[in-house]
Amino acid sequence: MSQPVPNQLAAIAARLRVIPREAHNISRKHISPGALRVLYRLHEAGHAAFLVGGAVRDLLLGGRPKDFDVATDATPEQVKRLFRNCRLIGRRFRLAHVVFGNEIVEVATFRGAGDDGSGDRHVVDGRIVRDNVWGTIEEDAVRRDFTVNALYYDIADFSVRDYVGGFADLEARTLRLIGDPVQRYREDPVRMLRAVRLAAKLDFTIAPEARAPFAELGELLLHAPPARLFDETLKMFLAGHAAKSFRALEASGLLADVFPLTARALAFRGGDSLRAMIEAGLAGTDARVAEDKPVTPAFLFAILLWGAVRAQVEREIARGVDPVLAWQRVSHHVIAEQAKQVAIPRRFGLVMQEIWTLQPRFEQRTRKRVFRLLAHPRFRAAYDFLLLRAVEGEAVAELGRWWTEAQALPHEELAARLGSAPPAAAAAASTEAPPPTGRRRRRRRKPAPAPANDTA
Ligand code: ATP
Ligand code: MG
Repeated sequence: MSQPVPNQLAAIAARLRVIPREAHNISRKHISPGALRVLYRLHEAGHAAFLVGGAVRDLLLGGRPKDFDVATDATPEQVKRLFRNCRLIGRRFRLAHVVFGNEIVEVATFRGAGDDGSGDRHVVDGRIVRDNVWGTIEEDAVRRDFTVNALYYDIADFSVRDYVGGFADLEARTLRLIGDPVQRYREDPVRMLRAVRLAAKLDFTIAPEARAPFAELGELLLHAPPARLFDETLKMFLAGHAAKSFRALEASGLLADVFPLTARALAFRGGDSLRAMIEAGLAGTDARVAEDKPVTPAFLFAILLWGAVRAQVEREIARGVDPVLAWQRVSHHVIAEQAKQVAIPRRFGLVMQEIWTLQPRFEQRTRKRVFRLLAHPRFRAAYDFLLLRAVEGEAVAELGRWWTEAQALPHEELAARLGSAPPAAAAAASTEAPPPTGRRRRRRRKPAPAPANDTA
């Protein structure tokens, strides 16, 4: 935001609404012990100390926040002097992290609205620079994104301070940008994605004027830093509300600006089965998160980009490219394309390639190949992926059932059913291996491989 002039700040201060303790539901019982200690210590040392951001919002909504952010008028250096277990981080914005076991409480000094984050101005000229970098609580409030994200819980009297109408918006379950939406999105296009994500997570509506600019400004996301989009994508799809987020993202029209290949594949032939697969995959991810099981971005990205991979492989093979080569080339290419938009760390890219390139190998059911595939370190992820592909048609569904049964059979029995045909004959009969039907065995040959999603 452009820097508010003093009378603008006075106007913001004049709009302050204080919601006293008895008029809201935030109880100290629900604030983490670490955050409470930070708040009290700052307060006792004579500083202003507030809980702020997503934690206040989620507490007011009756949720249980995972992390707690604190805002204060103490500088990072002052914070550091108060806490032994404190380290200062960040070059652009200096922040204090106070560490309690595995809890980290982030303590941020009120930031001036004119702070564009461009760097270490504060080391150049103490006073002026300080005025630029650090700000008042009013400035700190108006540089935040949504009104419901700019509520301050005051440890001094347990009230909630609201400078921007966030409390009323929270009651109306509305996401409203602070200030002019077009200007705020131009400053930081990722806010559009945050609007979609938070609306899905919280079951909020995006205010009409905050939604209207999506159509025109959505493409600004094409130039957003891929690393930030990766972080937002994880928050969107690995935090327990992936299915809802995806639907909201598609409905918002922003999908094409973040996952262009996915948007294109959904619009083409096979788009409906791809959508069904994505929805099933994301619902599965949400179920795992709900059960506190680990999830990996690799499986998720493999699902989102599958439509593009499948179509391009078909095209390559039709052009006469060797299938093995086609799978490798296309996998590599699709990841490289998507990574221009949303960063895909290499370790995840490698897993995605394996999940994809193992898909055609499920069709090869000779004895040797079956056992080799079962022993592959990425078998479980690739198999879970195959099951999701059942929506593509009966042939794939049948393949999934075959592998489900094959895994349940003891080694000797599976071997006997697959026979030991010589390689040439076996290859010819590869898709006709007898289905390993029959009753389930009481024990498996070896423990089941790890589930797909925890290959992080
Ligand atoms: P979540 O519960 O998903 O973490 P959150 O609102 O806490 O949601 P964070 O990314 O943790 O999101 O950000 C913490 C706070 O920082 C936000 O509540 C908001 O006040 C502020 N903030 C975050 N991103 C932006 C942004 N792009 N522009 C302005 N303010 C932001
Ligand atoms: Mg947060």
